Amino acid sequence: MKIAKTIQELKTSLNSYRIDNQTIGFVPTMGALHEGHISLVKASKSVSGITVVSIFINPLQFNSLVDFSTYPKTIEKDLDLLQKEEVDIVFIPSKEELYPQEPVLTINFGPIEQVLEGAFRPGHFSGVGIVVSKLLNFVKPQVAFFGQKDLQQVAIIKRLVQDLSIDVRIEVVPTMREADGLAMSSRNLRLTPNERIAARLLYRVLNFCRNELITGSDWLQIRQEALAQIQQEPSARMEYLELVDTYTLESQSSYDATKTLSLVIACFIGKVRLIDNLPVNL
Ligand code: AMP
Repeated sequence: MKIAKTIQELKTSLNSYRIDNQTIGFVPTMGALHEGHISLVKASKSVSGITVVSIFINPLQFNSLVDFSTYPKTIEKDLDLLQKEEVDIVFIPSKEELYPQEPVLTINFGPIEQVLEGAFRPGHFSGVGIVVSKLLNFVKPQVAFFGQKDLQQVAIIKRLVQDLSIDVRIEVVPTMREADGLAMSSRNLRLTPNERIAARLLYRVLNFCRNELITGSDWLQIRQEALAQIQQEPSARMEYLELVDTYTLESQSSYDATKTLSLVIACFIGKVRLIDNLPVNL
């Protein structure tokens, strides 16, 4: 496994594979890797000749300094995991390497970023768009892998590659969960043992809503009941719970079985902000 710390090292490593015409699969991450990230790596390995993983905690996409400075870092463990998966290249650039200058560019994704994560984290998707554009530009993969866990991010990235005509196929990988249903996330490492138990709430609420929806109950009524359940957990502070169109992310006021819908939630458990989502009609 080659570890590239500079763009030049990455390019040199990739060039030999490009000559062989191997399919390059790319998995961008911010590290603190878990089984969710590894499922993306496995998906890449199953269709690509070469798998490149990047680890970079992108300052541009954090709108809270505390969240940025406390973001978990487990680089040695990450490299062990990637080595076990037989990843070909790990790209670990420094901030100076990726941003020799503070970008003046911002990206406005229009209506798809004005809701949910975009509404609560101003500038987040501009930062995601810029870093993903740079990484795709350096790696030039044929396929790039993103987790369904970040549903809005998937919509943003698909729009990014479409609008900029970036020649890459975007593959979406289902959310990996802990045994009790909690979506795997690097931020789970920051939960205290009690908060970790409380965090089950997110998946429980999503399932409650889904079950009620498919048995025909009224969404606004269900949402009220779900909010009451969340309020019962003292460490929980909800930011949003919505029924949305999976592709446009438009908020829905009622259930329509002919549309592809998802339930989405963002909730603080203690100081840790967690997100999750669940497709309603698979
Ligand atoms: P991150 O390191 O949080 O930026 O995530 C890197 C990639 O892994 C993103 O495409 C995420 O959507 C994906 N990812 C994170 N958690 C999970 C999970 N539990 N299951 C599947 N993919 C995930």
